[in-house]
Amino acid sequence: MTHVAGTEHDPRRAGMVERQLRRRGISDERVLAAMARVPREAFVPPELAGVAYDDAALPIGEAQTISQPFIVATMCELLELEGSEHVLDVGTGSGYAAAVLDELAGSVVSIERIPALAARARRALELTGHRRVELRVGDGSLGVADRAPFDAIAVAAATDRVPPALLEQLILGGRMVLPRGGRRGQRLVRIVQTAGGPVETASLACRFVPLVEG
Ligand code: SAH
Repeated sequence: MTHVAGTEHDPRRAGMVERQLRRRGISDERVLAAMARVPREAFVPPELAGVAYDDAALPIGEAQTISQPFIVATMCELLELEGSEHVLDVGTGSGYAAAVLDELAGSVVSIERIPALAARARRALELTGHRRVELRVGDGSLGVADRAPFDAIAVAAATDRVPPALLEQLILGGRMVLPRGGRRGQRLVRIVQTAGGPVETASLACRFVPLVEG
C-alpha cells in the first residue's frame, strides 16, 4: 500500500481538482479543498491505484463502484455544508464520499448493506485519518433512526421513490441529494425539507447502482 497521509501534495490529485472539478463549474472552495486532501487511491483496489485520479467511476468489488470525482463534488456542493452539520451517507461503498463529507461536516454516519465493503471502507477511512466516520451495516433506505435527525443526507444509489424514512430523518431546512430514476436513466436531485413539504430540484444526469431496499 502506498503512503496515504492525505494532506501531502499530490500532482495527480491537484490536476483532478483543476481539470475535472473547477473547470467544470464546481465553485465551493471548501469542496475543492476537501477533494484536494482526500487520497482517492486509498479507496480503490490496489491494482487500480494507478488510475485512481481518472475521470471515472471505478469498480470496487461486489459489483459496486466508487463514484466519479465530479459526481462526489457535485453532491457535496448541492448539500451546501458549512462545517458543523450532522450528515448521513447512504451507500458507503469504498468510503470515499464519506471521507470527503467528513472533511466538510461536523459528523458523518455512513451506512452500507454489503458487510465486505463496509469492512474495507473502515480500513481505508482509518488509514486516511477519517476515524470519526461512524459506519453501519444495514439497509440505508431506512436511514439510521438512532442517529437522526440529519442536517444533510447523501444517497449514492439510485431509486425512483424517495425513501420516506430518509425524509423523516431530515431536519427542516435540511438538504438531501439522491440519484432519482432506474436503470434507464437517472438525475441527481436536490431535495430541501420545508414546512410545506419536500421541494425537489433536478440537477445533472447520472448513473448510479440501484438502491437495494429490504
Ligand atoms: N459513496 C460510494 C459509492 C458507492 S456505490 C463511494 O464513494 O464509493 C453505492 C453503494 O450503495 C454500494 O456499495 C451499494 O452496496 C450500496 N447500497 C445499495 N443499496 C443500499 C442500501 N439500501 N443501504 C445501504 N447501502 C446500499
